[in-house]
Amino acid sequence: MFDAVVVGAGLAGCVIAERLASQKNWKVLIVEKEKHIAGHCYDSRTEFGLLIHRYGPHLFHTNSKLVWEYLSQFTEWDYYQHHVQAFIDGRCVPLPFSFETMDLLFPKELATRLKEKLLRIYTFNQKVPILELMKQNDPDIQFLGSYIYDKVFKNYTAKQWEMLPEHIDSMVTARVPVLVGRDTRYFSDIYQAVPRNGYTCMMENMVNHRNIKLILGLNFLEIGEVRDHTITIGGKTFDGPIYYTGPIDELFGYCFGELPYRSLELKFQTIQKPYYQSCATINYPNNYDYTRITDFKHIHPLDTSQTTILIEYPKKFKKDENEPYYPVFTDESQNKYQEYRKLVEKYKNLILIGRLAEYTYYDMDDVVEQALKTVEGIGYGR
Ligand code: UDP
Repeated sequence: MFDAVVVGAGLAGCVIAERLASQKNWKVLIVEKEKHIAGHCYDSRTEFGLLIHRYGPHLFHTNSKLVWEYLSQFTEWDYYQHHVQAFIDGRCVPLPFSFETMDLLFPKELATRLKEKLLRIYTFNQKVPILELMKQNDPDIQFLGSYIYDKVFKNYTAKQWEMLPEHIDSMVTARVPVLVGRDTRYFSDIYQAVPRNGYTCMMENMVNHRNIKLILGLNFLEIGEVRDHTITIGGKTFDGPIYYTGPIDELFGYCFGELPYRSLELKFQTIQKPYYQSCATINYPNNYDYTRITDFKHIHPLDTSQTTILIEYPKKFKKDENEPYYPVFTDESQNKYQEYRKLVEKYKNLILIGRLAEYTYYDMDDVVEQALKTVEGIGYGR
């Protein structure tokens, strides 16, 4: 009855289903365990009309014209450049750490010397991961590296990952590099925006297609079984492609053990003021138990006397208790993931895609790009 099955109606699943339905004229079934689509991009309005991101702030940014144009078919955009500040030594300063941050935190003479020295080593506007900066020999740059490490990265990372920055995959802290320049935006991509009516609405527009049937509130593993090189759905062998976007370890019954994730406890609060804080997100590396507070009014402006904020408390991930947000990359977890990948190879019609299935710290644009490539390269492409 269906040409393909997509497990999960998050960003990966919606892109795959949309492409198969509209470009290949395939009949597609999407099975989603939650009662809503959009996965961790799910957003909805508060009782006073403010659009908030129910699984934490999602800011779309990409350098890919292809991804931008693809998504633009399903949404209008509000152009929005994300700004983040870090609360350091009692004041809010721009993040990524840049010349602007130095000028606010250091005495003028010291800031000038540091900027000059940085420009002798790096080019203007270069992005330098903190762990790279710390390898420099110059004593002034060593001071700067240790300062940024201590004040921005060490304690935030300890809260978020329960590890020191040097013990997690270096790409994690490299997401927020030190900037040898003055750009105070969190991202520098060519395209930056939020969908005018939200991510959920954008994805509804994707899956609202005569070839797509969507079932919400059903865990695929209640109807499907992946065993002995065969996939069955409702007791019958299914030979068409299955695009699975859920956790890879769950798919195989945790046979090699659970993959580690970090989770978050998200506390939303409505505040009786037009704005709670002066920019969208403020990070608290060294104070309190939370990592950051986001004021959604800056992301989706609205003329109201209230706003809603989100306070994020990092937590251990516990299956069936909270959400898997971030894969934890260690040698052990990578080896375990590879064991699961080897199992995937045994199923000719099983394709894994997305943050959970590929156990990767993807951004939204990475997911879309990967999904588009997967569908283009059908022959079930992996
Ligand atoms: N990070 C940090 N201090 C900050 C911001 C980020 O130490 O003020 C580190 C931390 O390890 C974090 C990583 O950089 O997990 C990536 O940050 P990003 O803002 O990209 O995280 P996301 O928005 O994906 O949660």
